[in-house]
Amino acid sequence: MSIYESDLFQNALAKLEQAAQVGKIDPNIIERLKYPKRAIQVSVPIRLDDGTVKTFEGYRVQHNITLGPGKGGIRFHPDVDLSETAALAMLMSFKCALVGLPLGGAKGGIKVDPRNLSRQELQGLTRRYATEIGPFVGPDKDIPAPDIGTDKQTMAWFMDTYSQINGYAAHGVVTGKPISVGGSLGREEATGRGVAYCINFAYDYLNKKVDSNTTVAIHGFGKVGVPAAEDLSAQGAKIVAVSDVSGAIYNANGIDVGSAALWVKEGNFLKDYEDATLISNEELLELDVDVLIPAAIDGVITKDNMDKVKAKMIAEGANGPLTNEAVTHLSEKGVFIIPDILCNAGGVTVSYFEWVQGLAHFFWDVDQINKTLHSILKKAFYEVMDNYECFKCDMKTAAMITSIKKMEAAMKLRGLFPG
Ligand code: NAD
Repeated sequence: MSIYESDLFQNALAKLEQAAQVGKIDPNIIERLKYPKRAIQVSVPIRLDDGTVKTFEGYRVQHNITLGPGKGGIRFHPDVDLSETAALAMLMSFKCALVGLPLGGAKGGIKVDPRNLSRQELQGLTRRYATEIGPFVGPDKDIPAPDIGTDKQTMAWFMDTYSQINGYAAHGVVTGKPISVGGSLGREEATGRGVAYCINFAYDYLNKKVDSNTTVAIHGFGKVGVPAAEDLSAQGAKIVAVSDVSGAIYNANGIDVGSAALWVKEGNFLKDYEDATLISNEELLELDVDVLIPAAIDGVITKDNMDKVKAKMIAEGANGPLTNEAVTHLSEKGVFIIPDILCNAGGVTVSYFEWVQGLAHFFWDVDQINKTLHSILKKAFYEVMDNYECFKCDMKTAAMITSIKKMEAAMKLRGLFPG
């Protein structure tokens, strides 16, 4: 498969072209944004615990680095390929630009099922991958972060490998690190907290208030879903349903979020949780609630179930949970959709704070982090609303226009090298 062929890449291109047309973006800019700037494939050989050597395919793609160094996660998953990685790198360019970060879009990954490797094998895999893509990344070039199948331990190994090779403790080379090796306070909750902030901005915009009458259903009760539930519940909202891969739980009077979060943290599945009615993930998506937060995986609301969705507002916690068809249909029905590149941008924003803190060797307290996150997301939210009103388009297109216009301005000022 070529780098341009995957459905994900083609979908990203379709969104880019739609936004370009509605927002009247210079076609020369779109021509450049259709292609990633750099893409590499590396071989990652490791010695397995049984003494044999096995080689995995790894990738790193930088889509656009006009605004600053590349930024994007590293995914360890069997479905990783160059085209998927390129599509995700493109979405990172749009997300970083939308919230005004001085960062470009990148993504990386290894085609591997990390559950089949021991801790030692995973460490070897991460260190060899970091070595292979080493010349390509760095605090001023491209700053990876965790994604599916990777975590703060992976980032600590990556940071250590880069630091060993370069001879100094390079805090700025990756984000999502443990606090003790230069991680940032507030990073773990940042994406879910940003989702809760965006829902509040949307309520303000609609002259409403999140309170005890606000009902919320959350599809995916993980690193994004749990903190979003905690923040909204602390504001008094009623979290009536949450789900994981095993199924969903429902309680019309509101789920005890703290207790459900602890249940999941202890390694249990929600299907075994008591004090709530078990329903399916599909039923959760169709609940008649004020706010639905799809925060699990992409493509969960499609042409097959979009007619059954009754939520008044959808906050896209996950990347791409609604297909383009579903966005168009639900927007026409009057559903207020907070688009993923805005709604889940809290994570990359606090990653940016972590990078800044690492470069400055000076660390902020959590209040400063949350306050700065709130003001960055609020500014981006109202910029999207301005374009929504100006172009009379759906919210996803408005978010893309907002983002591309920022990139367009910078690309035009910098010009096309060599001229
Ligand atoms: P996670 O693995 O912590 O949680 C995912 C949740 O979804 C879990 O409860 C899991 O059981 C559930 N799930 C997985 N597959 C499912 C399925 N087929 N049906 C129903 N539920 C399913 O992941 P996360 O970090 O919370 O990420 C969730 C989404 O948010 C992803 O799309 C990710 O790309 C996006 N995202 C995450 C961050 C972040 O900082 N973690 C930032 C931006 C975007």
